[in-house]
Amino acid sequence: MTPFAYAPVRDVNAALAQAGQAANGAFIAGGTDLIQLMQERVAEPDTLLFIGNLPLRRIAADHEGLHIGALARLADVADDALVREEAPLVVHALLETASPQVRRMATIGGNLLQRARCLYFRDATTPCNKRQPGSGCAALGGQNRLNAVLGGSDHCIAAHPSDLATALTALDASVVLEGAGGERSVPIADFYRLPGDRPDRETVLKPGELITEVKIPTAPAGRRSCFLKVRDRASFEWALAACAVALDLEDGVVAGARVVAGGVATVPWRLEQVERVLVGRAPDRAAAEAAGALAAEGAVGHGHDDFKIPLIRKTVTRALLQAGGVA
Ligand SMILES: Cc1cc2nc3c(=O)[nH]c(=O)nc-3n(C[C@H](O)[C@H](O)[C@H](O)COP(=O)(O)OP(=O)(O)OC[C@H]3O[C@@H](n4cnc5c(N)ncnc54)[C@H](O)[C@@H]3O)c2cc1C
Ligand code: SF4
Repeated sequence: MTPFAYAPVRDVNAALAQAGQAANGAFIAGGTDLIQLMQERVAEPDTLLFIGNLPLRRIAADHEGLHIGALARLADVADDALVREEAPLVVHALLETASPQVRRMATIGGNLLQRARCLYFRDATTPCNKRQPGSGCAALGGQNRLNAVLGGSDHCIAAHPSDLATALTALDASVVLEGAGGERSVPIADFYRLPGDRPDRETVLKPGELITEVKIPTAPAGRRSCFLKVRDRASFEWALAACAVALDLEDGVVAGARVVAGGVATVPWRLEQVERVLVGRAPDRAAAEAAGALAAEGAVGHGHDDFKIPLIRKTVTRALLQAGGVA
């Protein structure tokens, strides 16, 4: 590991000021991702600004919906009675995330900003445009079983790793950011960038900006939701494919649908073609199968990850059956 200075910060203003001064600094919260990257020399910050003690763990509800502080631990959010009541989809996604030990350390903001699980991104000896812009992409012709079949480019096909981000996209959540220019709120659907020719730029976060909270609008009465994750083992593993569903039912018919795929795309991937098929229908087996069949529209395999194309269709169909109460 490259030597670094360690600086705990006291409050949000001090965090922003110190981030502005550190030439190559990084915020650290739970450290469950950043420390691994530093051990592998994929990240080499010269200053670690420890934000884990900032007062950003509050979970509360008001007229806008549910607010979850960025430094709330995944385990605490999954256990919270208000989150269970207002946003069960978030609880389901978090209980499928990592392991109980990791969930006790890891934070909401850190989860949204964890880096790609692409094998080559995490191996500093190989070419990777995300780690070192312009160096090439070893995954395109290499071992790409964990990579993305949707939203990729000639420069990067890394799959987005956060289960929470997949669920939050289905809930129309926003991410609240605080930086030198003040506070702003960004819909999570606009927070992540497609890789294009700059896969190193993963979000719209500006240098030195902090995530302070996540806002989830109040769900309409009659919402049914489901988070389904397919992975190589039952726990402690990222998604090969995942699906977050939020169906708003009126008189037994789908009035609004949000269906988002995870593990198969470079960003949390709204499946609007699937949603369109569902609206106006009862959420039954016929609707789930007709809608799920469209889930892989536009998908491109790269060899080892070809299996994800039929897998995402099946995952989406199953998630819709579960959300509709059919399976
Ligand atoms: C074994 C293992 C299995 C896992 N499995 C899964 C899984 O199945 N699904 C899944 O979604 N995740 C999984 N994870 C990832 C895990 O959820 C993340 O490592 C964790 O959520 C990161 O949170 P953290 O607080 O530890 O972040 P840190 O490691 O402290 O930080 C991560 C990044 O976020 C930045 N950051 C942190 N907080 C803020 C903030 N408030 N504002 C601005 N920048 C910030 C840091 O600078 C850093 O760049 C797994 C991790 C491990 C180790
Ligand atoms: S897919 Fe992206 S993260 Fe993986 S090697 Fe290629 S550029 Fe790097």
